[in-house]
Amino acid sequence: MTNDDILAIKELLSTPKKIAIIPHRSPDGDAMGSTLALYHFLLKMNQLPTVVAPNEFPGFLTWMPGSEKVLIFEKDRANSTKVLQEAEIVFVLDFNAFHRTGEMEHVLNKLTTIFIMIDHHEKPDTFAKYTYSDTGFGSTCEMIYNFICLLGEKSLIDQKIATCIYTGILTDSGSFRFPKTTGTTHRIIADLIDLGVKNTEIPTLLFDNNSYESLQLLGQALQNMKVVPELHTAYIALSQQELDKYHYVKGDTEGIVNYGLTIKGIHFAAIFIEHTDERIIKISFRSQGGFDVNKFAREYFSGGGHINAAGGKSNLSLEETVKKFEKIIHEITI
Ligand code: 5GP
Ligand code: MN
Repeated sequence: MTNDDILAIKELLSTPKKIAIIPHRSPDGDAMGSTLALYHFLLKMNQLPTVVAPNEFPGFLTWMPGSEKVLIFEKDRANSTKVLQEAEIVFVLDFNAFHRTGEMEHVLNKLTTIFIMIDHHEKPDTFAKYTYSDTGFGSTCEMIYNFICLLGEKSLIDQKIATCIYTGILTDSGSFRFPKTTGTTHRIIADLIDLGVKNTEIPTLLFDNNSYESLQLLGQALQNMKVVPELHTAYIALSQQELDKYHYVKGDTEGIVNYGLTIKGIHFAAIFIEHTDERIIKISFRSQGGFDVNKFAREYFSGGGHINAAGGKSNLSLEETVKKFEKIIHEITI
């Protein structure tokens, strides 16, 4: 994002405008944190923002300030489409390609309005008039903090905005331990805490949110885990039947993939989750060190993401998908 871009955006925001803010489908803490932080910021800038999420966000994020105002495209297509079509500016946050919004993609493809992208994933598409894309950042929320500072409006960051930004930095950095966590990240965190963020309560709201059944599902997933020590790889498959058995709700499988990496010597972990209603296998990949799971996901499983955390999907059956994965890992270097 150049100085001229910032000046142009400042000019755009100098009068009230209808603004839509969109996270990616199945939004996580960073996607919701960044969209809600920007939402509260734009309200303070006398703008008319609406967050439109492609589908529902997980229960562990419903406490976030402003989440009750979010429109869910897949639940309320009429109103969501209207907001998108009437928007004078559309912010896309924490993703960089329309297909990451699922069916909302068809509405976005037809819009001729000004798009502003703020994102930290690899290989951004070129639909946005203003693009702030940098894979050097651990979270979109850290970029939102910078974006507000670049606009010269740091003094508008209040406890609500700070709370949303804190949440995204916390979740996308794996509680401040992933490699892109820098001194600057921690200085921003310090600033946010000074602004009143309840830094000891937020992790409880986010992570101590299990139901008995979601823990039983975790137990099942750990039982299903296969480990290939010579390939430093661990992977888990969960069938729809197993999800049903433990009355799966959205968010229950969040983070399970990381357990593979907690085994000594394992630096590549994957989870394959069957979603029969969407007729896909949703896949998450995680790595520690140099193995690039973004590349792996792009090349073999129609996905993408970051070097150490990526996702993908498969239209094959769960069994066939796992077989395909097993074949590939024996043919490449991990
Ligand atoms: P998760 O495994 O938690 O769903 O996603 C890990 C990371 O990869 C996140 O940054 C997410 O946005 C990204 N990601 C997940 N699924 C996909 C996908 O299908 N395509 C792309 N390009 N990125 C994905
Ligand atoms: Mn993110």
